Amino acid sequence: MRKPCPNAAPVPALSVVSPVYCEAAGLGTFLDRLEAVLRPLRLDYEIILVDDGSGDDTWLRMREESARRPVLRCLRLSRNFGKEAALVAGLEAASGKAVVILDSDLQHPPELIPRMVELWRQGEADIVEAQKSVRQKESFSSRLFARLYYGLLARVAAFDLRNASDFKVLDRKVLDAWKALPERRVFFRGMSSWLGFRRTTIFFEPAERENGTSKWSFFAKLMLALDSLSAYTAKPLSLIWLMGLLFAAFSLGVGGEALWMKFQDKAVSGFTTVILLILITGAAILGSICLLSLYIRQIFHEVKNRPRYLVGERLGFAEKKEHAVPLYAHPWRAGRQPGRAFRPHISARRARGPHSRPGLNAGTAL
Ligand code: UDP
Ligand code: MG
Repeated sequence: MRKPCPNAAPVPALSVVSPVYCEAAGLGTFLDRLEAVLRPLRLDYEIILVDDGSGDDTWLRMREESARRPVLRCLRLSRNFGKEAALVAGLEAASGKAVVILDSDLQHPPELIPRMVELWRQGEADIVEAQKSVRQKESFSSRLFARLYYGLLARVAAFDLRNASDFKVLDRKVLDAWKALPERRVFFRGMSSWLGFRRTTIFFEPAERENGTSKWSFFAKLMLALDSLSAYTAKPLSLIWLMGLLFAAFSLGVGGEALWMKFQDKAVSGFTTVILLILITGAAILGSICLLSLYIRQIFHEVKNRPRYLVGERLGFAEKKEHAVPLYAHPWRAGRQPGRAFRPHISARRARGPHSRPGLNAGTAL
């Protein structure tokens, strides 16, 4: 039997993971409120913040905070990869028996964590989800867009994510199952819903943002909506079949009538029919190409098999305390042995995702 490594860091009971993008102003308050609820739980915990390539002083603030808080671990992604990728980075770095996920803008009230953790500790649920009891204040168009999107998702992919949020507690077994999903492009809410497991829900009213504004533009939301729909269901593709069948029936009718008129020597110009046919056929062909392109886009991103994120710096992790690590520095050095030609041993192939080799995908290599 393998002996436990004597220097191995003890496994905390809780890992709290939060993505952070340009939240320098509110970071101190967020950590104060978080620690104020975590300390009384009398559980070992770690807080993992992932700086998603912020352009403001977020990383500086993290450095300062990490000098004051031994439980803080920070990752800085090499650029802005988006919230979903930042979440993946944090979750892959988490070592706790359960993971709490929440936004760092204080719209997910940390004061709810004790109740959520208690539900997990009672062992009745593997996933504790905090659902919004009301949607946060948003414009009419955003509300309409969200309604349409969630309605469509519920209908075609059978996921009801209407008031779902990323504010959750996941048991280690759920996290491990989630980590085994090989997708490069991640939609965390959809994936955690797909996993199943025993779940329980509590409700909360999302707070107003204390600082800054939401980072989601309409276009970013639209792309996430299209990607998540095409990632979880192939049903829209059957629309193309349906259109094909309808058109086949329609052309039989119109074609039959045209021939009949011709043989009767009654052929008329039929201008309207021709125009209508061209318009409808064109729309159907273009619509089908759009649908196909959604799936080709997914395939394109998946076959490229690029890492989901790259880590530029780490702070507070057990093996390397407080310093910046250049990208890929360790694998390169490890590949360089005395008397041997230099051979960077982290090939692109190995750097790919959880199925390549644990600990060697680009996200965890450093
Ligand atoms: N976020 C991130 N990367 C991004 C955008 C956002 O890590 O590219 C973080 C952000 O700091 C916050 C959370 O994701 O903690 C939710 O972002 P936001 O408040 O902009 O989204 P909303 O609450 O409007 O859905
Ligand atoms: Mg927010």
